[in-house]
Amino acid sequence: MNELSIISRCFEQVRNVAKNSPMYKDKFKGLPIETMMTKKQFETLPFTTKDDLREAYPMNMCAVPHEKIIRIHSSSGTTGMPVMIPYTAQDIEDWAVMMERCYQFAGVTSHDKVQVTPGFGLWTAGLGFQAGAERLGAMVIPTGPGNTLRQIQIMCNLETTVLIGTSSYGLVLAEEVDTRGLRDKIHLKKGIFGSERWGDKIRDRIFQSLKIEFFDIYGLTEIYGPGIGIDCHEHSGMHYFDDYIYFEIIDPKTGEVLPEGEEGELVATTYRKEGAPLIRYRTHDITRIIPGECACGSPFPRLDRIVGRSDDMIKVKGTNIYPAQVEAILAKIEGFSSEYRIILENEDLRDRMIVKAEVEKGANKEALAEALVLECKTGLGIKIIPELVELGDLPRSEKKTQRVIDNRE
Ligand code: ZN
Repeated sequence: MNELSIISRCFEQVRNVAKNSPMYKDKFKGLPIETMMTKKQFETLPFTTKDDLREAYPMNMCAVPHEKIIRIHSSSGTTGMPVMIPYTAQDIEDWAVMMERCYQFAGVTSHDKVQVTPGFGLWTAGLGFQAGAERLGAMVIPTGPGNTLRQIQIMCNLETTVLIGTSSYGLVLAEEVDTRGLRDKIHLKKGIFGSERWGDKIRDRIFQSLKIEFFDIYGLTEIYGPGIGIDCHEHSGMHYFDDYIYFEIIDPKTGEVLPEGEEGELVATTYRKEGAPLIRYRTHDITRIIPGECACGSPFPRLDRIVGRSDDMIKVKGTNIYPAQVEAILAKIEGFSSEYRIILENEDLRDRMIVKAEVEKGANKEALAEALVLECKTGLGIKIIPELVELGDLPRSEKKTQRVIDNRE
């Protein structure tokens, strides 16, 4: 869509929420929103944060009379109050339309059987995956999470072709299929994985066992849920639906909007949402908008893979480190698996960073440990303590994997 008309739709939303959402009535008080119209002016509007939504708990962000709300989802967050997100019938419909498009980008058709392993309920968005697949006419198998053996049994018996889940759970399933030698009984062709950043090693690992094509799906509960963007068969970024959402990329420190193509924090405005519209919502996801058109010919613009979160930065010995940097180092060295933990401790008030990482079978641990220390010294600028374990030793998670363990006092 052309930017001018998107900005004009965004301002319509700004004026709507300033009138109808108690949260925004407060936030935009005193701002000349009636006369604003340019992109530059839009960029002067205050950001919306997760804390704003927490303070608005339970329903002060709502921009329609409550009888128009037909469903609530909630975003947990790791600390503090949960966030409630009210949806109107139109919001639920719009979400399903976007989700259906995601399936189409992934080449899923009405002939497919889609096993949905995310949860169904207040906190999670299995329902979004289900609604989109049903719109498409595919067969949905809404198993929800857990009970891996039963999942695999259903997968074999019903001949599931598309697996929906987190990459962590994809790994759990892949390893189980391997252990039980069930590869021949599995009919999977595609995996649509979302909700966490995941690197090439974990992709390779899942691919080795399941031989499926992967698609990264993007979304967060505050903005509909998963399904607002997905990569196409070119796998060169995630197409997102700019006819529903306006994205900006900002410098997470200064809040300035960055030039096209630069990496920064993704900020979203849901200009068609009714229940809980958000203006300039800080997602904390670090990515960039890829300039130019995709080779697939789709007019929808693209986001690059999410490389990390602006709030998952850790400070060790005065140095700022993103877990993604450690992951990139491990990926570079032949012999490590996809799984690792960063453990932070302090001894005599001095920080210690332990990198606990799995190695492939038969690898030379001593040489790998040495390489890891050296690469971290050059890449991160600090001395780490390597702790190498066997493949499969680190706990697997069905949800998001907690990779940083901070035991510092
Ligand atoms: Zn494409």
